[in-house]
Amino acid sequence: MFVVLLGPPGAGKGTQAQRLTTSTGLLHLSTGDMFRENVRGGTELGTLAKSYMDKGELVPDEVTIKMLLERISRPDAAEGAMFDGFPRNVVQAAALAEALCERDDAIAHALLIAVPDEELVARLSGRWLCRACGAVYHERNDPPATEGACDKCEGELYQRDDDRPEVVRTRIEGMKPPADLLDHYRTAGVLREIDGERGLDDVTADLLEALK
Ligand code: AMP
Repeated sequence: MFVVLLGPPGAGKGTQAQRLTTSTGLLHLSTGDMFRENVRGGTELGTLAKSYMDKGELVPDEVTIKMLLERISRPDAAEGAMFDGFPRNVVQAAALAEALCERDDAIAHALLIAVPDEELVARLSGRWLCRACGAVYHERNDPPATEGACDKCEGELYQRDDDRPEVVRTRIEGMKPPADLLDHYRTAGVLREIDGERGLDDVTADLLEALK
């Protein structure tokens, strides 16, 4: 069974992917992980990918698709896999569909972990750091006892520029699964939306139910 896991940054996709792999035994294929492995290994592909990843841009489709198709041609992916971070657009989705079709297979489920934008902004933008000792707080999940001051050393807390709500909002917009990609799977009749605004266990349970 081939499954696509979709969701914006901050929806908990990586965590859920790991949980689903443990429960279902499906092979977990994350293109982000593959690129990071190549970066660590110092390969040519890694050097190329890094130049895009560092800017927060997508690696070109041609390169990404080639890497992914090579990966699913290996024996351990013969029976299925769960894709995490792929496809990011309809060109990638079409290439994947074609490759699976050639082996008489298809995406069985595209599961979207849906979280409203404002909740994502709250999750991703609440980080505050201590100037003096570097301690990390989260406005909502792990706030300091006194606003603006570090619990450990009373140092001043500050927010990194890229953690500011307006910057986070732009990042979310750019990294969301695009509407035409969702349409692609909706039209294929395999898209399921899972409410991601709940506890990890509830989300995992819904995802597992959708896979049945
Ligand atoms: P991720 O771990 O999925 O957030 O991916 C980290 C980075 O790897 C992304 O910001 C992209 O630069 C690159 N990447 C991962 N998956 C893809 C993909 N399917 N297409 C293009 N670039 C990707």
